[in-house]
Amino acid sequence: ASAVTAEAEGDERAIEAALRPRTLDEVVGQARVREQLGLVLEAARGRGRAPDHVLLSGPPGLGKTTLAMIIAAELSAPLRLTSGPAITHAGDLAAILSGLNEDDVLFVDEIHRMSRPAEEMLYLAMEDFRVDVVIGKGPGATAIPLEIPPFTLVGATTRAGLLPGPLRDRFGFTAHLEFYEPTELELIVRRSAGLLGVRITDDGAAEIAGRSRGTPRIANRLLRRVRDFAQVRADGVVTLDVAHATLDLYEVDVLGLDRLDRAVLDALCRRFGGGPVGAATLAVAVGEERETVEEVAEPFLVRTGFLARTPRGRVATPAAWAHLGLAAPRSEPG
Ligand code: ADP
Repeated sequence: ASAVTAEAEGDERAIEAALRPRTLDEVVGQARVREQLGLVLEAARGRGRAPDHVLLSGPPGLGKTTLAMIIAAELSAPLRLTSGPAITHAGDLAAILSGLNEDDVLFVDEIHRMSRPAEEMLYLAMEDFRVDVVIGKGPGATAIPLEIPPFTLVGATTRAGLLPGPLRDRFGFTAHLEFYEPTELELIVRRSAGLLGVRITDDGAAEIAGRSRGTPRIANRLLRRVRDFAQVRADGVVTLDVAHATLDLYEVDVLGLDRLDRAVLDALCRRFGGGPVGAATLAVAVGEERETVEEVAEPFLVRTGFLARTPRGRVATPAAWAHLGLAAPRSEPG
């Protein structure tokens, strides 16, 4: 099964890349971020200098990588890509930094997962465009300062709060990406359908948009599944009925909740009586990493009004009980 899935996924990744907006003007939604970022880039271009370092934060699939690519494109600068987990030693980072050319844009995805020593090296590089390369060990070790050309760091993280303060403070501009509105997702679905050469009705696009969990990546993925269904079981046109039937088939619920979202809600209500329960306990109950539950599932559940994060733990709202078709426990006796 793995070869088949890998091939299919390779395909899907290529499609995802093809659907990426290439300029700030092509980006749908995120109006504030677009305006703020546009200003930062235009000013830097006007001065002929590299702009401040940029931090992009928000749940997966909202456009962080896309924006990093656009930043480089708008600056006509090459983009170098790496990720926090790929940088295990400070030496890995030193090699990347010393290989940069003037005005390059360096994108570090999942920057909150970088190792401590690499993080410290990065502070210095961001501020002084310098790294200290340590030669030798123990009392005889010496630090040799190495100049690096001015570059722009674009960091991406699922939550800015996960970054240590000193690192966060060295970004001149932080953009918080929010979940998208259904009308914005509808535009994205229609744009993607156009690029894929798929015929789609307005209500078909609206149906996909409404079930996309506020996330462009999911909207594009659902569109591809609905397109398959339209091609195999209908006449190729994505209509409301086709979208409906496909999304039911793939068990995407009417609000777009996925398997993990539902598992979290289910555990919260059925196993913990609606909470409050700690994030770690909840994560164990659904068999997921705490980070995944906190960074992926919870933000959307909070946004839909199903879950509240309180100082005492996670709590299900009355809407959550209703969505699961359960009677909420009464808070007062009688
Ligand atoms: P992230 O890096 O935050 O996980 P990506 O930048 O990889 O997300 O975006 C995922 C997909 O969603 C991309 O293929 C892109 O086509 C689409 N996408 C993201 N944001 C937008 C947007 N604002 N407008 C149109 N498409 C978008």
